[in-house]
Amino acid sequence: MPSVFALRLGLLATLACTQLTSPAWCADLDPRPIQPPLQRLVEQMTPQLRSVYQDLHAHPELGFQETRTAAALATAMRKLGFEVTEGVGKTGLVALYRNGTGPTVMVRTEMDALPMEEKTGLPYASKAKALFNGKDSFVAHSCGHDMHMTSWLGTAQALLGLKEQWKGTLMFVAQPAEESSGGAKAMLADGLFEKFGKPHYAFALHTGSMAYGTVGYVAGAATSNSDGLNITFHGRGGHGSMPAQSIDPVLMAARFVVDVQSVVSREKEPAEFGVVTVGAFNAGSAGNIIPDQARVLGTIRSYQDDVRSKLKEGVERTARATAAMAGAPAPEIKLTPGGDAVINDPALTQRTVQLFKTVLGEQNVVALSPSSASEDFSAFVNQGVPSLFYVLGISDPQRVAESKQAGGKPLPFNHSPFYAPVPEPTFQTGITTMTLAVMNVMQ
Ligand SMILES: [Zn+2]
Ligand SMILES: [Zn+2]
Repeated sequence: MPSVFALRLGLLATLACTQLTSPAWCADLDPRPIQPPLQRLVEQMTPQLRSVYQDLHAHPELGFQETRTAAALATAMRKLGFEVTEGVGKTGLVALYRNGTGPTVMVRTEMDALPMEEKTGLPYASKAKALFNGKDSFVAHSCGHDMHMTSWLGTAQALLGLKEQWKGTLMFVAQPAEESSGGAKAMLADGLFEKFGKPHYAFALHTGSMAYGTVGYVAGAATSNSDGLNITFHGRGGHGSMPAQSIDPVLMAARFVVDVQSVVSREKEPAEFGVVTVGAFNAGSAGNIIPDQARVLGTIRSYQDDVRSKLKEGVERTARATAAMAGAPAPEIKLTPGGDAVINDPALTQRTVQLFKTVLGEQNVVALSPSSASEDFSAFVNQGVPSLFYVLGISDPQRVAESKQAGGKPLPFNHSPFYAPVPEPTFQTGITTMTLAVMNVMQ
């Protein structure tokens, strides 16, 4: 792959600089050679980053426990010459590099992994374990955050190698606990923008199962609003043979799980996106005991604020009505805001996507539908920071093609135990695109 990649990127990067409106950093690129500086830098750092990726992959850590990961990133960034502050928002870190007068540009990575077992069979697969909710659990980088970190480090290195060609301040942020949606907020609560300055632009990438060498983007809302639901139905416990002496919370909760879907299907506009999922249902201990309470946990997803309000209100009303129908006390209802939708800035998206298309080829930059997943990158950027969150493809294109054929084997998605990004050229595309995106706003 590297030689094909080298040739292709070399030619395309040269193209980028002849077809665009001559950005300042293009001045140093000779239009004839097939290996312009960025491509050479990426090639030079590839063996080292291969090891970095495999090491991070084999040593995943859960949210707010990313001490080994954060220390490794801090050491690497210090070596590059960044001014690094650790322990921002518990385990988060901020790395600054000042290079003259110009905008401050934030590049975000996440550091956390998931409480699940990896089943990829890769030689560098994780065997790590850690405590999750008090229980011993496997830990795996099944969302690709290790790939994000590798691209983040490589981008920092590439930007320093090209520092004659941009001016401004790099603000590289490695956040903890993206999966539980608490990491970005913890960093903000710790004074991220007050202590280190509010960036003028922000970028983040996320791996997805599309083909490597491609990137995807959404103009506008890229990910969903997320709200957690936690409802406890209180009944009156008793003998399983004497339901008339009891108020059955299992029946109440079961009815709620079914009825709440009518909020989605009957109350929300059909064309608007909205999901209510109950993912956990906990009640009782034995078949002949009617318990005195039942608890359901779930998630509410939306893009639009009005849909979000409508779903939340509908969930609460359905829960209260279900309890009232059973003659039970009012349920305890906790709706906790997770993350807001990530909204890509239209002008920045267009400007960056245009550059990606020139460098990667029009067919390798794909307009995507918004994702129903959520991302707390929104917490950083919804405070008036123009930003772009884009998707980095990870899969062998042949496997992608096969998966689209009738009866083809589906590709593993994020959070699958089989999720296995092909390291190269995935991180190379990540570094190239992120470096160009950052330089594109630092002229
Ligand atoms: Zn994830
Ligand atoms: Zn993720």
